[in-house]
This record gives sequence, C-alpha cells and structure tokens, in this order.
Amino acid sequence: MDIYSQSLQDLENYFLDIGEKKFKAVQVYDWLYRKKVTSFEEMSNIKKTIIEKLKQDFKITLPSIVKVQNGKEVNKYLFELSDKERVEAVLMLHDYGNSLCLSTEVGCNMGCAFCESGRRKKVRNLEAGEMVGQILAVMQSSGLKVTHVVLMGIGEPFDNYDNVLKFIKIINSDYGLALGARHITVSTCGIIPKIKEFTKEKLQVNLAISLHAPNDNLRSKIMKINKVYNINELIKVVKDYIKVTNRRVTFEYVLLKDVNDSEKCAHELANLLRGMNCYVNLIPYNATSHLEFKRADKKTILKFYDILKKEKIGVTIRREFGTEVSAACGQLRSSYEEEL
Ligand code: SAH
Repeated sequence: MDIYSQSLQDLENYFLDIGEKKFKAVQVYDWLYRKKVTSFEEMSNIKKTIIEKLKQDFKITLPSIVKVQNGKEVNKYLFELSDKERVEAVLMLHDYGNSLCLSTEVGCNMGCAFCESGRRKKVRNLEAGEMVGQILAVMQSSGLKVTHVVLMGIGEPFDNYDNVLKFIKIINSDYGLALGARHITVSTCGIIPKIKEFTKEKLQVNLAISLHAPNDNLRSKIMKINKVYNINELIKVVKDYIKVTNRRVTFEYVLLKDVNDSEKCAHELANLLRGMNCYVNLIPYNATSHLEFKRADKKTILKFYDILKKEKIGVTIRREFGTEVSAACGQLRSSYEEEL
C-alpha cells in the first residue's frame, strides 16, 4: 500500500488493527505532510518496531520528476510513476498563491476533439497517493508551497471518482497539508451521475464544468461525452448542485476559432446560463497537434467577453500562463514522447 493514499482515518484504523494507539496516525501525518520526510526512518518519535512494521506494510515513494520546464510564472513538471507511466503537472505562481494543476489519470477516455490528453486512451487511474505525490514532489523540487490545487491536468477526475474524493480528503486534512476546500477545484467534462454523487458530499470545493459550447449540436461535435449526457441534463444537475451546496460554479469555455467563438454562441451561452450562480471562464485555446483547431482571435475573445458582460453573466478571461512551456493538458508528455 502507498502511505500517501491513506486518509487519516485509514491510518487510525491501521494502528488500531495492529494494537497501537490511533494518535500515531496524526504523528505519521505530521511527518509526511508538515515535516515532509520521505522515509519512515526519519520519523524519530515513532518506536523502531512500529517503523519496521510500517516499512513492511507501506511504500513511501513520490513520483519522480523526469523533466522540468521553468517559465516566468509557471513551472511545468513531467513525472514518472512507479510503473514508468508518465503524467504532468503545472505550477502557476499567482499573486494570491501558488496553484498546482495536476493529473488524475494516465491518459483519458473522454476524447474531447481539441484536447491533447485524449490522444492517449486511459491506461489507468491514478491512486490518491499519486495525486498527493505530485504536490509533495513539486514542493520538494521548487521549494515553494502549493496553496491551491486544480484537477485540470491529464484525465477526467470524475472518471476516477473514488480516488479523487479520497485525495481531496487527504490534502484537506487539518493534520496534513491542510489545503482549504475552497482552494481546491475539480473540473469535469460533465459526467452527470458523478456530479450528483459529488453534490451529496456537500464539500466546499470549487466545481468547474467544461462546457465549451452552448448547444448540443456543437457540443457533441467537439465533446463525445455530450452524446451521453446532454446540455439540458447537465445544466439541471449543476443547478441542483448550486442549490444544495450554495456554491458558485465555473463554466469553462475554450474559444476555438470559427468553431464556438461567434457572437451568436455568446448570446446563446448567456441565455443558457442566465440566473444561475455561476461565471464563465473564457480560455484562449493553446494550439496543440490537433491542427484543425486554432485559437480565437484576440478581438473575437474580447467581443465574446463583452457580450457575456452586457448580458450580465459573470465572466473572466483566463490569464495565459503556459503557452511558452506547452502547458495545455497532455502537451508536455506528448512532446516528450515524440522526442524519445
Ligand atoms: N477532464 C477534465 C479536466 C481536465 S482538462 C475536464 O474536462 O474538465 C482542463 C480544462 O482544459 C478543460 O476545460 C479542457 O477542456 C481544457 N483544455 C483541454 N485542452 C486545451 C487546450 N489545448 N487549450 C486550452 N484548454 C484546454
């Protein structure tokens, strides 16, 4: 078992099972997440016999960083996992803190037409500990504290629901990294049954929905998932989510030149979202090897923004961080594999 996949409660149960006091779990968490040691031997307030037992029962390895690309306000990391599979994460340095965009799966089955990650079918889910490990490895390598986490790297978080939920509990734990729920963002392409399940968790994390089109016809062309769960159903569950959690939801909208960037699309989007406690995050497309898609012109992006604003829909344009370091999801891994 991976020590970084253990919730505090898992570890408490483990210690009880081996006839030890459960507060040992808090001590182990303290070593792992506050003092950030990477071997059991360093846990100096824990008896030798227990250390030996921990060594037998758990592995304590972080994903290894095989490539780092440093930009001005962004560092990009390529990791190798214990089975040699590779995933990536991007650290963005904002004025409000350092936000790590990390991966949840090796590959992705969602197959969005414009997205690099989907070029490779899902090989496997990441364990909760492999997501935690991306945070710890980045902190270790950069010397910086990660204050915010967004699940927008490779993979669809809700196609790996149980591990993602566990991951959130682990990093949110007061005894661990203590990352506040409001500093954690989960992004989904819209897997409705999982959004419903997530609603019941009543977490205070941020939910982002990759919408990218205001109608089914267009959305189904660029996002396969829409053929399974259409926009009306999606909006319905998101409204329910907002009602239950009282949280504002983000809709992501990647602006693709001549695909979804028309004024008509902007008005249609405004009509779709009117009255909801939400805002739209307009994302300038990062060109990838999907050559058929291009970034919308700056003027078009601003026009789209203005229309939403005038229609009284909350809207932001995503600041660009990653273009110079190929930060669109899946791009670093792809380019690395092409080099090999
Ligand atoms: N599977 C999840 C999270 C990963 S993708 C989801 O779909 O939400 C994170 C966001 O980046 C999504 O909104 C995705 O559509 C978008 N994205 C993918 N490729 C991109 C690119 N080349 N440029 C800009 N955004 C991209």
